[in-house]
Amino acid sequence: MIARTAEKRLDPTRPVSVWSSQDLYEGRSVKSLTVILRTVGCRWNRCTMCGYASEGAPATAEELLVQYRESMKKLSSETQVVKIYTSGSFLDSLEVPQEARGRILDDLHSRGIKKLVIESRPGYITPELVAECLSNLDTEFAIGLETANDLIREKIIHKGFTFSDFARASQIIHSQGGRVKAYLLLKPPMLSEGAAIRDAISSAQAASKHADMLSLNLCNVQRGTLVERLWERGEYRPPWLWSALEVLKNVPHPIICDPVGAGTRRGPHNCGNCDADISKAIRSHDLTQDAGIFDDLECKCKSAWRKVVELEEQTFGTPLV
Ligand code: SF4
Ligand SMILES: [Zn+2]
Repeated sequence: MIARTAEKRLDPTRPVSVWSSQDLYEGRSVKSLTVILRTVGCRWNRCTMCGYASEGAPATAEELLVQYRESMKKLSSETQVVKIYTSGSFLDSLEVPQEARGRILDDLHSRGIKKLVIESRPGYITPELVAECLSNLDTEFAIGLETANDLIREKIIHKGFTFSDFARASQIIHSQGGRVKAYLLLKPPMLSEGAAIRDAISSAQAASKHADMLSLNLCNVQRGTLVERLWERGEYRPPWLWSALEVLKNVPHPIICDPVGAGTRRGPHNCGNCDADISKAIRSHDLTQDAGIFDDLECKCKSAWRKVVELEEQTFGTPLV
């Protein structure tokens, strides 16, 4: 039974996941479709919080196109934004062969999709590939910057590129009229809750100079990662949702945040009583960008969160932020 499930999960002709949701496009909330294609996975595969490698299976160009066509069955006539993710880099030609990428872009263009969002490490972002995307569609290039602090990105997250690499990739994209989204990670391992909040706020300020959109990712404990090992030893706790609000209230707009796994032990969480309300408010903020929605949120656990932030300041070692 387990073997059959695993086999199905790793089938290179089936996408990892496909779902519809709402997204902000030109200031309006519109219908979007998110597709996660199953590829061989990220070639870097070293980030300390990333467990995406377990989703991968080598997929040929033809198999990727089968996955894509299957995913497009969920497209509705109202869908305006399509996000094609791979748990890696859409622009890495060893992960998504040129032929598959070209046919996917052509097809989205012919369907009249208004905006495409893809993800890539900066190293794969070349003027030629950016031009290929933009000649077909208004494209947003999402880059996992995680933090503007090179020390944290390099030594703690093991991301393998610098802030300048991110800025250079943004420049290539902007010079051709494309859009840049920067992912920021709230609470990499080894950071206190307060340091994580400060790092996310200062990162958002620095990244906003090079990005049109920021996306705050709340760290969750993925399988097979260093973060998971620390968490199992009681040395890591995913961020409090109060911390996420603190960041969202204090950063330049626009910023979005999908509280994946909120309220679970492995995901960002508060006390269990208020998690659902706070997640709902965060999702609504994505579409309105009105941080006033957070003002009325209260729970008894807020004072506990404040105490944690204060106590960790005294007990953590050398602050990095
Ligand atoms: S976080 Fe991104 S760059 Fe890092 S290993 Fe995962 S997919 Fe690759
Ligand atoms: Zn609470």
